[in-house]
Amino acid sequence: MTIEATHDLAPAAAIFGGRLAAARAGLAAHGARALLIGQGSDLRYLTGHGAHPMERLTMLVLTAEGDAVVVAPRLEAMAASASAAGAAGLVEIVQWDETDDPYSVVARRVEPAGSGHGARLLVDPGLWAQHLLALQRALPERVFGLATEVTRDLRIVKSPAEIEHLRAAAHAADRVIEQIARGSLIGRTESDVAQEIGERLVAEGHQVAAFAIVASGPNSASPHHGAGDRVIQAGEPIVLDIGGTLADYHSDTTRTIWVTGGDAGRGPDDEFRVIYDLVQRANADATAAVRPGVACSQLDDVARRVIREGGYGEAFIHRLGHGIGLDGHEEPYLVADSGDSLGEGMAFSIEPGIYLQGRYGVRIEDIVVCAADGPDLLNESSRALLVVDG
Ligand code: ZN
Ligand code: ZN
Repeated sequence: MTIEATHDLAPAAAIFGGRLAAARAGLAAHGARALLIGQGSDLRYLTGHGAHPMERLTMLVLTAEGDAVVVAPRLEAMAASASAAGAAGLVEIVQWDETDDPYSVVARRVEPAGSGHGARLLVDPGLWAQHLLALQRALPERVFGLATEVTRDLRIVKSPAEIEHLRAAAHAADRVIEQIARGSLIGRTESDVAQEIGERLVAEGHQVAAFAIVASGPNSASPHHGAGDRVIQAGEPIVLDIGGTLADYHSDTTRTIWVTGGDAGRGPDDEFRVIYDLVQRANADATAAVRPGVACSQLDDVARRVIREGGYGEAFIHRLGHGIGLDGHEEPYLVADSGDSLGEGMAFSIEPGIYLQGRYGVRIEDIVVCAADGPDLLNESSRALLVVDG
């Protein structure tokens, strides 16, 4: 069940009323005039309205003084009214017709200038350039900034209900990984397996299967390999990195398996076992270090040290992880130059990897929540090296 689908308006009013109030407080705290939020995850977070980015403007105008309006094209006004915040009466819906200029509708809502809460207008980072440029023409006196100033602090901490959505998504991805790992793989193309992953994610409750990396043999050394025409062979690893959305919240899980074709002589070689063990330990040590107050950079360092001391530091070519929620990648980022520290309720991936070009690679990725007393591991599928017939 998605939050938008609930017919119980009282909790929806409390959830979205609370988020809108927090956003207003953030505007005042940052001395900004209004949030201008187009289609995307910030809009979904603040109103429950799941409109997708497109050339027709839908925009939440939220001012520090209290005005909350969703400007929407007439053909989507009903959907905006049916969103959680619309149905609960938390936002006014203002519709525009096909020949209207929606930017002047937004501009009229922003003007006249409020005194006392500054003049800056904060737009969501995903707002299309064509919308932003048109807003800047409609509001030439205004200074524009990013809504992240306000929304980041709200979205980075997940509520218990959000964590349960992330957990359900993670468990569904776990089941799909296990189904794929135990199925038939050798002789199939990567893209064929990727298509099966997508179908299974949906069968396990996902709304959308967003991606499926199926990186076989030497392709496993490319972290963001796109599944292609390569045919999977006996005696090689496969990196499976899969995800999508369930109840609007993302899954993102990676397991690396080895297929033998039933031939014991085609099992993992010694070096593969060494790098697998290092990645598994890096994942486990970083996960164990999760607790409120730990620097994101320190978590990255915990994992990197394991791999560096094992002699493969140069082959861990990406950050340790990224936040996850309504977006697949969001704050916080677990990276060496981060100035952030973990707080209770933050959700993120822990995904160390080792990539040996021309040979093979290993990545193990889990979604973890920072709970009051340490890590709350959302993924449950085994992290041990799975050697299968394939
Ligand atoms: Zn991933
Ligand atoms: Zn990830």
